[in-house]
Amino acid sequence: MSKRDFYEVLGCQRQADEASLKSAYRKLAMQFHPDRNPGNSEAEAKFKEVNEAYDTLKDPQKRAAYDRFGHAAFENGGGRNGFNGGFGPEFTSSMSDIFEDIFGDFMGGGRGRQGGASRLRGSDLRYNLEITLEESFLGQTVEIDVPTLVSCTTCDGSGAKPGTGTHTCRQCGGHGKVRAAQGFFTIERTCPVCQGRGEMMDEPCTDCGGQGRRQQNRKLAVDIPSGIEDGTRIRLANEGEAGIRGGPPGDLYIFVSIKPHDLFHRDGADLYARVPIAMTTAALGGEFEVPTLDGARAKVKVAPGTQPGQRVRLKGKGMPVLRSKETGDLYVQLDIETPQNLSKRQRELLEEFVRLTTEETNPTSDGFFHKLKRMFEA
Ligand SMILES: [Zn+2]
Ligand SMILES: [Zn+2]
Repeated sequence: MSKRDFYEVLGCQRQADEASLKSAYRKLAMQFHPDRNPGNSEAEAKFKEVNEAYDTLKDPQKRAAYDRFGHAAFENGGGRNGFNGGFGPEFTSSMSDIFEDIFGDFMGGGRGRQGGASRLRGSDLRYNLEITLEESFLGQTVEIDVPTLVSCTTCDGSGAKPGTGTHTCRQCGGHGKVRAAQGFFTIERTCPVCQGRGEMMDEPCTDCGGQGRRQQNRKLAVDIPSGIEDGTRIRLANEGEAGIRGGPPGDLYIFVSIKPHDLFHRDGADLYARVPIAMTTAALGGEFEVPTLDGARAKVKVAPGTQPGQRVRLKGKGMPVLRSKETGDLYVQLDIETPQNLSKRQRELLEEFVRLTTEETNPTSDGFFHKLKRMFEA
């Protein structure tokens, strides 16, 4: 089955700009989306085709390669060598690697690889892990399930069908490089067919399509240290995707984010909580309890005459400091609620209270109103 031209798939001209490619893609993706066409395998195939075309054309580097080499830019082996494609769309994450290889070399960059240009390193993976503040407080081992590519056991990662050999690449005659004349210039670049190896497998491994790796979910246990902060990145070396045909694996990065907490706000190792208290408690003093992250409770003492916004510090009731024995503090900010919807009797009592108010009971406001009075008289 020959592949349709990507521009044709999207119904765009070859010189279409990014915006028109995007809008064409959106329209078609909506039309063929599996949610809208349940059980329609033709729509599903179209949807995949549209996605593959857009995936390539939206990336300027891939688009340039496609314009230059067509589908061959993305195929190893290609029809020419009798291989039937080989890379299904599930291997798209490896594309960028192949590209860097072709273009890195072509543009003089390269990764300094020698001889083994086709044994590409696997991609790095990113895993987003959301934990609660309680989990950060305690620290723990979390089991994660990572969809990734693992080394193919059938061919032992080589990509070649067990028992088969190799032959010289017909495109480059074994040089690993091809020359193309462009006007007065001759450009030499890595052979896009064998990717610089100079040789091709006689037969690719049927279980992995010649990639030397397969899609699989891997279960991994990740240690979350006590006191970990929001936005921390944990690197697990060599736990990313397996390399292509025995290339080195990539790394896995766990991005840890912490869910907002209902009561506590965190700043480094310190915790902050705002607690509303009644005006009378603020005036008369009292105490109440707050839950702490270790599952216990802590007593908060309210001093008589507490003012709005005043903080009570609970030493050592904050977060553990990463890899140390220290802990931060918990600050409880007291917000004072003014009574509302007073009954007649309550009103009478407060009015009586006002008559008894002196300079000592309200020194701040009393002093301020005296200052205002002097300003009016001046
Ligand atoms: Zn295999
Ligand atoms: Zn070649």
